[in-house]
Amino acid sequence: MHISVLTLFPELFAATLKLGVVGRAVVSGQLHVSLINPRDYAEDKHRTVDDRPFGGGAGMVLMFEPLQRALEVAKAELDKAGVKNAPTVLMSPQGTTFSQDMAVEASTTDGMVFVCGRYEGLDQRFIDTYVDAEWSIGDYVISGGELAAMVVIDALARHIPGTLGNQQSIFDESYLDDRLDYPQYTRPENTANSRVPAVLLSGDHNRIAEFRRAEALRVTYARRPELLTRKIFANEDKIHLKAAIEAEKMRS
Ligand code: SAM
Repeated sequence: MHISVLTLFPELFAATLKLGVVGRAVVSGQLHVSLINPRDYAEDKHRTVDDRPFGGGAGMVLMFEPLQRALEVAKAELDKAGVKNAPTVLMSPQGTTFSQDMAVEASTTDGMVFVCGRYEGLDQRFIDTYVDAEWSIGDYVISGGELAAMVVIDALARHIPGTLGNQQSIFDESYLDDRLDYPQYTRPENTANSRVPAVLLSGDHNRIAEFRRAEALRVTYARRPELLTRKIFANEDKIHLKAAIEAEKMRS
């Protein structure tokens, strides 16, 4: 997959693209990320990319033309890599809230362009002309789109086949199958006040799977019950869910 990122701060991406799951995807060649700085496409000697907003007001706005030229470079690179019709996505607090479903869908595309805003944002005419979608990482404002783009790149890289050490992990993760993940335990078996649930030490894979499924439903019901309204339950899950509801009633 080829991703081009338009950013005034390409240096911010260095660690993300080098380490962990994303780093592995880059090294293995499954993910190619190109960082394009609109400042390199400014035309004056000060390499200006922003200006004051028409109508007055605080802050600066990213100008249409350096962004347009940077996007042309991104599209030409993608074209050279054989990627046609890559969508241009603006990171924006006003966009659609990014979700696991969007990460899975994005991971199946051949390429994308992410645009990172800064300051007060971008000239609206660039958005109207070139942006296909706006994605937000949550209902808060951060200083630039770079961290948001890194969140999105990390989330989608996990779904490119072969990027995770154990590909099974993505099937057990929260938000897939409309539920949260089950609790995890590791050594030692006993800590000062608590023991690992005995079933996890039993070696009985069926019982362990059943326990984890019940725990996932319990946690989901307790924390994000609305996720369960989208689900169609198998019979054994109905039993687990009934137990989870009873347990919550007892607790409250
Ligand atoms: N004036 C804008 C507003 O109030 O909607 C906020 C601009 S923000 C300081 C600068 C840039 O950070 C935005 O253009 C966007 O690219 C990025 N950004 C800020 N919050 C974001 C969020 N929650 N999700 C995605 N990108 C975000």
